[in-house]
Amino acid sequence: MATKKEREEMEKSNLIIPMRKVYVVSTIVAIFVIVFPFRYLIREEVIRNDIYSHSYLLYFLLSLIIAIVLHEALHALVFRMEGAKKEEISFGIKWWTIVPAPYVHCDAELKVSSFKRSLIMPFIVLGLIPLGIGLIIGSGTVVLFGLTMIAGSIGDLLMFQLLYSLPADQQMKDHPSLAGYTVRV
Ligand SMILES: [Zn+2]
Repeated sequence: MATKKEREEMEKSNLIIPMRKVYVVSTIVAIFVIVFPFRYLIREEVIRNDIYSHSYLLYFLLSLIIAIVLHEALHALVFRMEGAKKEEISFGIKWWTIVPAPYVHCDAELKVSSFKRSLIMPFIVLGLIPLGIGLIIGSGTVVLFGLTMIAGSIGDLLMFQLLYSLPADQQMKDHPSLAGYTVRV
């Protein structure tokens, strides 16, 4: 007869995303992201503003570091809004990956729709919105910022796709160690 633990295990199904897939797709998008604005949008700004000056690069890198922190904070904020307790949310950096990857882990069991909202928020707020603003005001730098943030959201978008076919109100959890989820079936 199956033990309680085994029964619990059988009721769960794991949805895991291979990190290799995240890297391959992210790299392709990152190449596009760097090549596209430099060729078509920044060329004139480079001449006008001396884009390669140390202070410009320093400020741009600084804004990216702040944006990475904000990216993770937005995931956490949505988890909180969706009902996760403060102590159920933790931050960390996965050092075993090719590029050190910051992450937010949510220990609460939440609905699929809650995880989807948390996954998509940084992509919209830090990626799509700056990209739109950059295109409207005609700033290659802001466009580059938005595109960089979109490239940094590829893992989140792949996870979003993983959850796409699940019912919105199904209960689920973050996988304790891998990039993915456990879903109650
Ligand atoms: Zn993310």
